[in-house]
Amino acid sequence: SDHSLDYPSSPRDIDWATHYPAYAHSGKVPEFADVGCGFGGLLITLAPLFPDTLMLGMEIRVQVSQYVQDRIAALRVTAASASVDPASSASTAVSSPADSPAAHYQNISIVRANAMKFLPNYFSKASLSALFFLFPDPHFKSRKHKARIISPTLLAEYAYALRSGGIVYTITDVKDLHEWMRTHLEAFPLFEYASEEDLRAEGRGPIIDAVYTSTEEGKKVERNQGEKWLACFRRIEVPRQ
Ligand code: SAM
Repeated sequence: SDHSLDYPSSPRDIDWATHYPAYAHSGKVPEFADVGCGFGGLLITLAPLFPDTLMLGMEIRVQVSQYVQDRIAALRVTAASASVDPASSASTAVSSPADSPAAHYQNISIVRANAMKFLPNYFSKASLSALFFLFPDPHFKSRKHKARIISPTLLAEYAYALRSGGIVYTITDVKDLHEWMRTHLEAFPLFEYASEEDLRAEGRGPIIDAVYTSTEEGKKVERNQGEKWLACFRRIEVPRQ
């Protein structure tokens, strides 16, 4: 249950500087949201690739969200000390210079939150350019389908938070859940299917690669040689007829 959690009453009440101190004066707010981020593999992979982008993970489990918070804090310290050591500069990520805050994992953070209830408390209208649902809990029994993270009501919230042109990325190893997410997204007038090929052609290949392979759950599926089903959708301005 989440009634003991303190939620911000609106995104305006959040002091993002406590999450992203190195960006405190940038006026930036999170632009990528990883819903049910688990152990944080996606955030950590994307951080150095998008140095100008703030990213936020949402995770409901206390220990898991604490683990991710500690993991990011440790990465910030390690990266900061590595960057003053010229011998280790070769290991610095290619796309972000060693002195960029993103090379120090300053652009990623996490909140413990029930995203199904409180997403609009964190993200204002049209603030997001990417929303990730990677290997979400399947909730197999049909009476539990309303517990799924993709549903008509929640899609309205996701469409609200995403800017026009923003992308929803979903991936799962459960075919039935894949079809569920795809069908609901397809039926929602403010989303349009975006093929993997198109997204790669637009330069989103590194994001797609991270979606497939960077998370702990994605790696587990690989070890078990499971299949992965990707479905991505673009937020459009004018509703489809
Ligand atoms: N995305 C991660 C990955 O690919 O490794 C984690 C996948 S795991 C199967 C699903 C995660 O979603 C779990 O860590 C779970 O605690 C979290 N979760 C489930 N419902 C949630 C909710 N309503 N709000 C936030 N996180 C949630």
